[in-house]
Amino acid sequence: ATVTPIRIAEGRRRPDFLLVLLSNKTEVVRIERMRADFIANASHELRTPLASLTGFVQTLLGPARNDEVNRERFLKIMLEQGERMARLIDDLLSLSRIEMKSHVRPDTVIDIGEIVQHSVNALLPLAKSSGTSILVHATDRPAMVRGDWDELVQVMHNLIENALKYGRAGGTVDVSIRFEDGGDGQPGVAVSVKDDGPGIDAAHIPRLTERFYRVDVSRSRAQKGTGLGLAIVKHIVARHRGRLSITSEKENGSVFCVWLERATVTENLPALELKEE
Ligand code: ADP
Repeated sequence: ATVTPIRIAEGRRRPDFLLVLLSNKTEVVRIERMRADFIANASHELRTPLASLTGFVQTLLGPARNDEVNRERFLKIMLEQGERMARLIDDLLSLSRIEMKSHVRPDTVIDIGEIVQHSVNALLPLAKSSGTSILVHATDRPAMVRGDWDELVQVMHNLIENALKYGRAGGTVDVSIRFEDGGDGQPGVAVSVKDDGPGIDAAHIPRLTERFYRVDVSRSRAQKGTGLGLAIVKHIVARHRGRLSITSEKENGSVFCVWLERATVTENLPALELKEE
Protein backbone atom coordinates (compact mmCIF):
# COMPACT_ATOMS: atom_id res chain seq x y z
CA ALA A 1 0.00 0.00 0.00
CA THR A 2 1.15 3.52 -0.65
CA VAL A 3 0.39 6.56 1.47
CA THR A 4 0.29 9.90 -0.30
CA PRO A 5 0.05 12.93 1.99
CA ILE A 6 -1.29 16.05 0.28
CA ARG A 7 -0.76 19.37 1.93
CA ILE A 8 -3.77 21.64 1.89
CA ALA A 9 -3.69 25.41 2.31
CA GLU A 10 -0.21 25.91 0.89
CA GLY A 11 1.42 29.14 1.99
CA ARG A 12 0.14 29.17 5.53
CA ARG A 13 2.52 28.28 8.30
CA ARG A 14 0.56 25.24 9.33
CA PRO A 15 -1.97 23.43 7.12
CA ASP A 16 -5.56 23.49 8.36
CA PHE A 17 -5.74 19.78 7.80
CA LEU A 18 -3.93 17.04 5.98
CA LEU A 19 -5.60 14.84 3.40
CA VAL A 20 -4.09 11.37 3.31
CA LEU A 21 -4.86 9.17 0.30
CA LEU A 22 -4.49 5.49 1.00
CA SER A 23 -4.31 3.20 -1.97
CA ASN A 24 -3.45 -0.41 -2.39
CA LYS A 25 -1.34 -0.43 -5.53
CA THR A 26 -1.41 -4.22 -5.92
CA GLU A 27 -5.23 -4.22 -5.90
CA VAL A 28 -5.38 -1.32 -8.39
CA VAL A 29 -2.94 -3.13 -10.70
CA ARG A 30 -4.94 -6.38 -10.36
CA ILE A 31 -8.24 -4.66 -11.24
CA GLU A 32 -6.61 -2.84 -14.16
CA ARG A 33 -5.22 -6.15 -15.46
CA MET A 34 -8.62 -7.84 -15.12
CA ARG A 35 -10.25 -5.01 -17.05
CA ALA A 36 -7.62 -5.19 -19.81
CA ASP A 37 -8.00 -8.99 -20.01
CA PHE A 38 -11.76 -8.65 -20.20
CA ILE A 39 -11.60 -6.14 -23.06
CA ALA A 40 -9.11 -8.36 -24.92
CA ASN A 41 -11.34 -11.44 -24.43
CA ALA A 42 -14.54 -9.62 -25.39
CA SER A 43 -12.90 -8.21 -28.53
CA HIS A 44 -11.60 -11.64 -29.48
CA GLU A 45 -15.01 -13.27 -28.91
CA LEU A 46 -16.67 -10.64 -31.14
CA ARG A 47 -13.95 -10.73 -33.77
CA THR A 48 -14.33 -14.47 -34.40
CA PRO A 49 -17.94 -14.37 -35.74
CA LEU A 50 -17.24 -11.03 -37.44
CA ALA A 51 -14.28 -12.52 -39.35
CA SER A 52 -16.47 -15.42 -40.42
CA LEU A 53 -19.25 -13.06 -41.58
CA THR A 54 -16.84 -10.90 -43.57
CA GLY A 55 -15.21 -13.98 -45.09
CA PHE A 56 -18.54 -15.36 -46.33
CA VAL A 57 -19.60 -11.98 -47.74
CA GLN A 58 -16.31 -11.83 -49.70
CA THR A 59 -16.86 -15.39 -50.95
CA LEU A 60 -20.43 -14.63 -52.01
CA LEU A 61 -19.32 -11.48 -53.80
CA GLY A 62 -16.33 -13.22 -55.40
CA PRO A 63 -15.74 -16.90 -56.19
CA ALA A 64 -19.22 -18.08 -55.16
CA ARG A 65 -21.10 -15.23 -56.92
CA ASN A 66 -22.99 -17.65 -59.15
CA ASP A 67 -22.83 -20.67 -56.86
CA GLU A 68 -26.54 -21.42 -56.40
CA VAL A 69 -25.78 -24.64 -54.48
CA ASN A 70 -23.73 -23.09 -51.70
CA ARG A 71 -25.43 -19.72 -51.43
CA GLU A 72 -28.13 -20.83 -48.99
CA ARG A 73 -25.65 -22.78 -46.86
CA PHE A 74 -23.34 -19.76 -46.59
CA LEU A 75 -26.23 -17.43 -45.79
CA LYS A 76 -27.37 -19.76 -42.98
CA ILE A 77 -23.87 -19.75 -41.46
CA MET A 78 -23.81 -15.96 -41.74
CA LEU A 79 -27.15 -15.73 -39.95
CA GLU A 80 -25.83 -17.97 -37.13
CA GLN A 81 -22.72 -15.81 -36.76
CA GLY A 82 -24.83 -12.64 -36.65
CA GLU A 83 -27.05 -14.19 -33.98
CA ARG A 84 -23.97 -15.23 -32.04
CA MET A 85 -22.69 -11.64 -32.05
CA ALA A 86 -26.10 -10.43 -30.87
CA ARG A 87 -26.09 -12.93 -27.96
CA LEU A 88 -22.59 -11.80 -26.95
CA ILE A 89 -23.56 -8.14 -27.04
CA ASP A 90 -26.76 -8.80 -25.04
CA ASP A 91 -24.80 -10.68 -22.36
CA LEU A 92 -22.07 -8.01 -22.24
CA LEU A 93 -24.72 -5.33 -21.81
CA SER A 94 -26.46 -7.36 -19.07
CA LEU A 95 -23.17 -7.69 -17.20
CA SER A 96 -22.35 -4.01 -17.41
CA ARG A 97 -25.88 -3.00 -16.36
CA ILE A 98 -25.71 -5.27 -13.30
CA GLU A 99 -22.23 -4.03 -12.41
CA MET A 100 -23.35 -0.42 -12.56
CA LYS A 101 -26.11 -1.14 -10.05
CA SER A 102 -24.06 -3.50 -7.88
CA HIS A 103 -24.11 -1.18 -4.83
CA VAL A 104 -27.93 -1.01 -4.72
CA ARG A 105 -29.82 -3.99 -3.34
CA PRO A 106 -33.07 -4.63 -5.20
CA ASP A 107 -36.02 -5.00 -2.84
CA THR A 108 -39.29 -5.90 -4.49
CA VAL A 109 -40.97 -8.72 -2.56
CA ILE A 110 -41.13 -11.68 -4.95
CA ASP A 111 -42.26 -15.32 -4.73
CA ILE A 112 -39.26 -17.36 -5.91
CA GLY A 113 -41.66 -20.18 -6.89
CA GLU A 114 -43.14 -17.91 -9.55
CA ILE A 115 -39.66 -17.07 -10.84
CA VAL A 116 -38.83 -20.77 -11.15
CA GLN A 117 -42.13 -21.58 -12.85
CA HIS A 118 -41.69 -18.71 -15.31
CA SER A 119 -38.14 -19.82 -16.20
CA VAL A 120 -39.11 -23.48 -16.53
CA ASN A 121 -42.01 -22.61 -18.86
CA ALA A 122 -39.68 -20.62 -21.13
CA LEU A 123 -37.26 -23.56 -21.30
CA LEU A 124 -39.77 -26.35 -21.96
CA PRO A 125 -39.14 -26.31 -25.74
CA LEU A 126 -35.37 -26.77 -25.15
CA ALA A 127 -36.05 -29.60 -22.66
CA LYS A 128 -38.38 -31.23 -25.16
CA SER A 129 -35.80 -31.04 -27.96
CA SER A 130 -33.28 -33.02 -25.86
CA GLY A 131 -35.87 -35.35 -24.32
CA THR A 132 -34.98 -34.09 -20.82
CA SER A 133 -37.56 -33.83 -18.04
CA ILE A 134 -37.66 -30.93 -15.62
CA LEU A 135 -38.97 -31.72 -12.13
CA VAL A 136 -39.89 -28.85 -9.82
CA HIS A 137 -40.15 -29.35 -6.04
CA ALA A 138 -41.77 -26.27 -4.59
CA THR A 139 -42.40 -25.29 -0.97
CA ASP A 140 -45.87 -25.70 0.56
CA ARG A 141 -45.99 -21.96 1.35
CA PRO A 142 -44.85 -19.09 -0.90
CA ALA A 143 -41.09 -18.61 -0.63
CA MET A 144 -40.72 -14.84 -0.61
CA VAL A 145 -37.45 -13.00 -1.21
CA ARG A 146 -36.49 -9.41 -1.91
CA GLY A 147 -35.14 -8.86 -5.36
CA ASP A 148 -35.47 -7.82 -8.96
CA TRP A 149 -37.88 -9.97 -10.98
CA ASP A 150 -36.01 -9.80 -14.31
CA GLU A 151 -32.62 -10.44 -12.73
CA LEU A 152 -33.83 -13.43 -10.70
CA VAL A 153 -35.51 -14.85 -13.82
CA GLN A 154 -32.14 -14.47 -15.58
CA VAL A 155 -30.41 -16.40 -12.77
CA MET A 156 -32.89 -19.29 -12.87
CA HIS A 157 -33.01 -19.27 -16.66
CA ASN A 158 -29.21 -19.47 -16.98
CA LEU A 159 -28.87 -22.28 -14.41
CA ILE A 160 -31.72 -24.41 -15.80
CA GLU A 161 -30.60 -23.78 -19.39
CA ASN A 162 -27.05 -24.90 -18.49
CA ALA A 163 -28.42 -28.04 -16.81
CA LEU A 164 -30.30 -28.81 -20.05
CA LYS A 165 -27.32 -27.97 -22.31
CA TYR A 166 -24.58 -29.75 -20.36
CA GLY A 167 -26.64 -32.39 -18.56
CA ARG A 168 -27.60 -35.77 -20.00
CA ALA A 169 -29.89 -35.74 -23.03
CA GLY A 170 -32.94 -37.76 -22.02
CA GLY A 171 -32.08 -37.24 -18.34
CA THR A 172 -33.74 -35.25 -15.57
CA VAL A 173 -33.19 -31.74 -14.27
CA ASP A 174 -34.34 -31.29 -10.69
CA VAL A 175 -35.21 -27.81 -9.49
CA SER A 176 -36.00 -27.65 -5.81
CA ILE A 177 -36.96 -24.76 -3.60
CA ARG A 178 -36.66 -25.07 0.17
CA PHE A 179 -36.52 -22.90 3.25
CA GLU A 180 -32.98 -22.93 4.60
CA ASP A 181 -31.37 -20.76 7.24
CA GLY A 182 -28.06 -19.11 6.36
CA GLY A 183 -24.89 -19.88 8.33
CA ASP A 184 -25.66 -17.01 10.70
CA GLY A 185 -29.19 -18.29 11.35
CA GLN A 186 -30.70 -15.79 8.87
CA PRO A 187 -33.96 -17.18 7.42
CA GLY A 188 -33.44 -17.92 3.77
CA VAL A 189 -34.64 -19.64 0.63
CA ALA A 190 -32.40 -22.00 -1.34
CA VAL A 191 -33.05 -23.00 -4.93
CA SER A 192 -30.96 -25.81 -6.34
CA VAL A 193 -30.71 -26.91 -9.94
CA LYS A 194 -29.40 -30.44 -10.31
CA ASP A 195 -28.64 -32.36 -13.48
CA ASP A 196 -27.60 -35.96 -14.04
CA GLY A 197 -24.98 -35.16 -16.67
CA PRO A 198 -21.24 -36.00 -16.79
CA GLY A 199 -20.40 -33.49 -14.04
CA ILE A 200 -17.49 -31.04 -13.87
CA ASP A 201 -13.88 -31.71 -12.81
CA ALA A 202 -13.15 -30.16 -9.40
CA ALA A 203 -10.30 -28.09 -10.88
CA HIS A 204 -12.74 -26.17 -13.11
CA ILE A 205 -15.35 -25.37 -10.46
CA PRO A 206 -13.76 -22.28 -8.86
CA ARG A 207 -13.27 -20.72 -12.32
CA LEU A 208 -16.74 -21.35 -13.81
CA THR A 209 -18.08 -17.90 -12.88
CA GLU A 210 -15.19 -16.08 -14.58
CA ARG A 211 -16.17 -14.23 -17.73
CA PHE A 212 -15.62 -16.35 -20.85
CA TYR A 213 -14.41 -19.37 -18.85
CA ARG A 214 -15.65 -22.58 -20.45
CA VAL A 215 -14.69 -26.16 -19.70
CA ASP A 216 -15.03 -27.09 -23.36
CA VAL A 217 -15.10 -24.12 -25.73
CA SER A 218 -16.36 -26.01 -28.77
CA ARG A 219 -19.15 -27.68 -26.75
CA SER A 220 -20.18 -24.28 -25.37
CA ARG A 221 -20.20 -22.73 -28.87
CA ALA A 222 -22.19 -25.64 -30.28
CA GLN A 223 -24.73 -25.04 -27.48
CA LYS A 224 -24.90 -21.34 -28.41
CA GLY A 225 -23.06 -20.39 -25.21
CA THR A 226 -21.24 -17.09 -24.71
CA GLY A 227 -19.24 -18.06 -21.60
CA LEU A 228 -20.91 -15.20 -19.71
CA GLY A 229 -23.98 -16.94 -18.24
CA LEU A 230 -22.48 -17.91 -14.88
CA ALA A 231 -20.61 -14.59 -14.55
CA ILE A 232 -24.01 -12.87 -14.88
CA VAL A 233 -25.50 -15.27 -12.29
CA LYS A 234 -22.66 -14.54 -9.85
CA HIS A 235 -23.07 -10.75 -10.17
CA ILE A 236 -26.85 -10.84 -9.78
CA VAL A 237 -26.65 -13.09 -6.71
CA ALA A 238 -24.00 -10.81 -5.18
CA ARG A 239 -26.19 -7.74 -5.79
CA HIS A 240 -29.00 -9.54 -3.95
CA ARG A 241 -26.54 -10.27 -1.07
CA GLY A 242 -27.13 -13.97 -1.72
CA ARG A 243 -24.79 -16.90 -2.19
CA LEU A 244 -24.04 -19.23 -5.10
CA SER A 245 -22.56 -22.67 -4.52
CA ILE A 246 -21.49 -25.23 -7.09
CA THR A 247 -20.91 -28.90 -6.36
CA SER A 248 -20.29 -31.63 -8.86
CA GLU A 249 -19.37 -35.27 -8.94
CA LYS A 250 -17.78 -36.85 -12.01
CA GLU A 251 -20.39 -38.99 -13.81
CA ASN A 252 -22.99 -37.95 -11.23
CA GLY A 253 -24.09 -34.52 -12.39
CA SER A 254 -23.80 -31.05 -10.91
CA VAL A 255 -25.76 -28.96 -8.44
CA PHE A 256 -25.90 -25.16 -8.71
CA CYS A 257 -27.53 -23.68 -5.60
CA VAL A 258 -28.61 -20.09 -4.98
CA TRP A 259 -29.38 -18.94 -1.44
CA LEU A 260 -31.30 -15.72 -0.83
CA GLU A 261 -32.42 -14.05 2.35
CA ARG A 262 -36.10 -14.69 3.05
CA ALA A 263 -38.61 -11.86 3.18
CA THR A 264 -41.62 -12.11 5.47
CA VAL A 265 -44.74 -12.12 3.30
CA THR A 266 -46.39 -9.09 4.82
CA GLU A 267 -43.42 -6.79 4.37
CA ASN A 268 -43.75 -4.06 1.78
CA LEU A 269 -47.04 -5.34 0.44
CA PRO A 270 -49.32 -2.48 -0.62
CA ALA A 271 -51.67 -1.44 2.19
CA LEU A 272 -55.25 -2.61 1.71
CA GLU A 273 -57.56 0.15 0.73
CA LEU A 274 -60.70 0.07 2.86
CA LYS A 275 -63.63 1.45 0.96
CA GLU A 276 -66.84 2.42 2.63
CA GLU A 277 -69.84 0.67 1.18
P1 ADP B 1 -21.81 -20.92 -21.55
O1 ADP B 1 -22.39 -19.79 -22.30
O2 ADP B 1 -20.58 -21.50 -22.17
O3 ADP B 1 -22.82 -21.96 -21.20
P2 ADP B 1 -21.66 -20.29 -18.68
O4 ADP B 1 -20.97 -19.16 -18.02
O5 ADP B 1 -23.13 -20.42 -18.49
O6 ADP B 1 -21.25 -20.22 -20.21
O7 ADP B 1 -20.98 -21.64 -18.18
C1 ADP B 1 -19.57 -21.75 -18.20
C2 ADP B 1 -19.15 -23.17 -18.44
O8 ADP B 1 -19.49 -23.97 -17.30
C3 ADP B 1 -19.85 -23.86 -19.61
O9 ADP B 1 -19.20 -23.57 -20.82
C4 ADP B 1 -19.73 -25.33 -19.23
O10 ADP B 1 -18.46 -25.80 -19.62
C5 ADP B 1 -19.76 -25.30 -17.70
N1 ADP B 1 -21.09 -25.67 -17.14
C6 ADP B 1 -22.06 -24.82 -16.77
N2 ADP B 1 -23.13 -25.48 -16.27
C7 ADP B 1 -22.82 -26.79 -16.33
C8 ADP B 1 -23.51 -28.01 -15.98
N3 ADP B 1 -24.74 -28.00 -15.46
N4 ADP B 1 -22.86 -29.20 -16.20
C9 ADP B 1 -21.61 -29.22 -16.72
N5 ADP B 1 -20.92 -28.11 -17.08
C10 ADP B 1 -21.51 -26.91 -16.90
